[in-house]
Amino acid sequence: MSKLTIEQLPLAGKRVFVRADLNAPLGGGTVADDTRLRAVIPTLRLALDRGAAVVLASHLGRPKGGPDPKLSLEPVAERLGELLARPVPLAPDCVGEATRAQAQAVKAGELLLLENLRFHPEEEKNDDGFARQLAELADCYVNDAFAAAHRAHASIEAITHHLQPAAAGLLMQQELSALGRILEAPERPLVAVLGGAKVSDKVTLVEHLVGKVDALVIGGGMAFTFLRALGHAVGRSLVEPDRIETARSALEQARRRGVQLALPVDAVVADGLDSSSGRAVGIRQIPDDQMGLDIGPRTIEQFTAVLAKATDGRLREAALRRGHGGHRARGGGGGGLQRHRRWRYDRRRQRRRGQRQDRLHLDRRRRLPRIPRGTNAPRRGRSHGGRVMRTPLVIGNWKMFGTLAEARPLASGVRDGLKRFKGVDVVMCPPFTALAAVGEIVQGTAIGLGAQNCHWEASGAHTGEIAPPMLVELGCRVVLIGHSERRREMGETDELVNKKIVGALAHGLVPVLCVGETAEERRQGLTFTTVEGQLRASLAGLDTAAVARLVVAYEPVWAIGTGVNATPQQAAEVHGYVRGLVSELASKEVAQGLRVLYGGSVKADNVDALLAEGEIDGALVGGASLNAQGFVSIVKKAARGAATRGE
Ligand code: PEP
Repeated sequence: MSKLTIEQLPLAGKRVFVRADLNAPLGGGTVADDTRLRAVIPTLRLALDRGAAVVLASHLGRPKGGPDPKLSLEPVAERLGELLARPVPLAPDCVGEATRAQAQAVKAGELLLLENLRFHPEEEKNDDGFARQLAELADCYVNDAFAAAHRAHASIEAITHHLQPAAAGLLMQQELSALGRILEAPERPLVAVLGGAKVSDKVTLVEHLVGKVDALVIGGGMAFTFLRALGHAVGRSLVEPDRIETARSALEQARRRGVQLALPVDAVVADGLDSSSGRAVGIRQIPDDQMGLDIGPRTIEQFTAVLAKATDGRLREAALRRGHGGHRARGGGGGGLQRHRRWRYDRRRQRRRGQRQDRLHLDRRRRLPRIPRGTNAPRRGRSHGGRVMRTPLVIGNWKMFGTLAEARPLASGVRDGLKRFKGVDVVMCPPFTALAAVGEIVQGTAIGLGAQNCHWEASGAHTGEIAPPMLVELGCRVVLIGHSERRREMGETDELVNKKIVGALAHGLVPVLCVGETAEERRQGLTFTTVEGQLRASLAGLDTAAVARLVVAYEPVWAIGTGVNATPQQAAEVHGYVRGLVSELASKEVAQGLRVLYGGSVKADNVDALLAEGEIDGALVGGASLNAQGFVSIVKKAARGAATRGE
């Protein structure tokens, strides 16, 4: 990386402005953790040894618009003096006459620390006048504040327009070359850990990293904006409402590129930043009046598992330390460590608590509406003697298979094979080009016609798209929306899925909303988080009546077309979760009537076991629907199963 470095500057007899990041946690009037101070010592030594007069500047915490004695750099000056074994005088301010005079008086081999840059709001506004005043204090500029270098603040960006030459300090140089090495020729798998309070600070970085890394671990305050983007209620946790969309698009990008994205699955919550204790809860259980302040024990385990993939042990350890203390940035860096220490309770207790949370989580799922089996009700959600019955539904998704020559015999075979069946609703979804032909073949039978996708608009300049009324005209009653193959290949986002659902409903179609997690998401324990995020975002803005008209298909991505199906228990667990969420988002009645299908390598030989689960109301069948006999057999088994169970 060809950057001018401090080593190349003619320092002797010069006054050098060193922008450092001395934003260290304070406690009891002293520096509680001097890591950041130690990091800048080599640069300071080099400058002093080469005969420069050093004017050192930094921010500390987040003062609110003016000087705040609690955020004075005085303790930093003291500790720095100890580390350098020489006095480090502190100027009363960072600009102004007195400061300028003091800076002019610094001799070669001496150092002056300026007071907190952020005591002037102009610093964070990248104010040019303020930057000019800072620039007047020295002859050249060195930036060694790597952790703050992404910020367009006056002492970082604007100052370089007035003070040249500008060079990188030793820490900056070291970090840049490490980053360059990692991003240009990384050892894989490459895992990046991001923390800190704000997404807005790191938007470009996140976007860039998604294109480079194999996994992205997101902790710290910014994780809550991502969790909100997934539809989680996060209580009073720090969220940047205007960045939710950014986070959503990063999540979508990651999903599309196959980048594993690890977000907290539990959090330590408390009433506020100054609370003296916290407790770990699942990420969906953050109380409305509390805020998440740290990652919880299950998240630590999951982040550790993701980081274990990274080959460099030191990186792993450092990243974990940073990840766990991610909330540090939330408090402006000052008091975070103390809070962190207060919360660092005994690991065994933590684990026990974590397990209890897990159990609670599971119990909660078990308590979700259990839907008793009913009689052979022709439509879903009928109440019978106080019990809710849902007619099984089997849908064949032909995907992009079936020219007309193939589609006709397939549809006829299904029609003929299903002359006598009852108690199951059946729908075939051929490709668009075969809809009319298949529609004619099944006309007058109980077999329904469905499409695999639709546009959200009723008409318009959308080349290559098919509008809902066009499907209705062909006799379609159902449309698949958000199939994982479309999400992956066409970049369909939850937002788009939501629009399509609204469009389909407007024309009387029944949308079959497909949701499901990838193998990696399941491995990380993010199944419920993923499904919940998809569901919340897809149903956003729909009223209860609209949700009542949907069908949901849980289709774990890892099971589609792979021959590996979810076990009935795995599927039932997610189905119960979906129903619980719909109960929350719409109503209990809607949830009880909702048909939740399972999709993913369903075949005649596994459908019985799957449909035996009370929560599984039918199947979305891909590959096995391309064989008339096989599909007929699945439908018949579903019908027999329903009859045996008294539905
Ligand atoms: C599907 O395409 O929705 C599907 C579940 O495919 P398969 O049955 O082939 O896994």
